[in-house]
Amino acid sequence: VHGLDEFGLIARYFTHSGKARRGVGDDCALIDVGNHTLALTSDMLVEGVHFFSDDTPADIAHKALAVNLSDLAAAGAEPRCFLLDLALPQLDPAWLQAFSGSLMQLARYFHCDLIGGDTTQAPATSPTSGALVIAITAIGEVPRDDVRGRDGARAGDDVWVSGELGDAALAVRRRYAQARGAVAAAPLPDSVMQRLTRPQPRIALGMGLRGLASAAADISDGLVGDLGHILTRSGCGARIDWRLVPHSQAVAALALDERQAVTLAGGDDYELVFTADPSRREQILALSTPELPLTCIGSLCQQPGLHWSGLDGTRCDAPSIPLRPFTHFSGGTHHDRP
Ligand code: ADP
Ligand code: MG
Repeated sequence: VHGLDEFGLIARYFTHSGKARRGVGDDCALIDVGNHTLALTSDMLVEGVHFFSDDTPADIAHKALAVNLSDLAAAGAEPRCFLLDLALPQLDPAWLQAFSGSLMQLARYFHCDLIGGDTTQAPATSPTSGALVIAITAIGEVPRDDVRGRDGARAGDDVWVSGELGDAALAVRRRYAQARGAVAAAPLPDSVMQRLTRPQPRIALGMGLRGLASAAADISDGLVGDLGHILTRSGCGARIDWRLVPHSQAVAALALDERQAVTLAGGDDYELVFTADPSRREQILALSTPELPLTCIGSLCQQPGLHWSGLDGTRCDAPSIPLRPFTHFSGGTHHDRP
């Protein structure tokens, strides 16, 4: 076997240094244009991989744009505009109406204009369905001196996360259980299901962290995986106290190993994980709100890798389950994550 997964593949075939100030390996590529720095990102959603075939068009549209805006948030960029590429198995006016309505609603909220794209017909796999693919390229702007990526973290920095983690992964599990016809468990609150279908890009936070965060990433593939990218790119390690990772009441009600799986390795939450010098604590806490609390969950160290440790020096046992972050081409689909 070739032994490549998604990230190995990118590293081997698509990592070339070019004109960008930041490129492959960050949430956004950054290029200087005149006095401005543009942040560019492109994310693709594939039916059956990134969303369920019976998801509503409004939910699919929201997610397609939101995950791109989330990458802009990680880079601290302000959204400007986006391009929309669609491969549609069929032309369904009602579906398109709902899709575009939801897409434009989110775009308007963030003042992010649709400026172009491409539309093609996708092969149908059955008379009524096929593999729907939506690719969006989003473009934002960041002041030249405030650019940040995943490589600026330093030993001694605090590690922070926004909001609560785990709801989206819990919702995925529930959707799969429902699809299998598993015995109906008590329904999850809408607020939990919507963490999966309606991710909220943390644009205001991302911009607020300009000049404060040394590195940041959005949590699309799970905390362990996305923090891992920061550690690899920055050449340091982290001591994390998983007991401090914030989660909802629904996640608190899970058995310990399931709770650890969804909060630490579950993806799709689209919160931000970021690092900052301890001297920034007060300024960062000033950005924390009841709706979007910011929580320090550990600190960076020189010893590479992820270590489990109490923030106050107390013992913090390693999670009881293996935490495998999601990567494509490692078997399974996006939705099979722990
Ligand atoms: P994202 O936050 O966008 O999901 P990832 O954590 O998946 O980013 O990291 C993937 C990195 O590899 C990004 O910097 C992305 O721009 C880059 N990348 C992914 N696919 C390709 C490709 N086909 N060619 C060049 N770069 C790629
Ligand atoms: Mg990202």
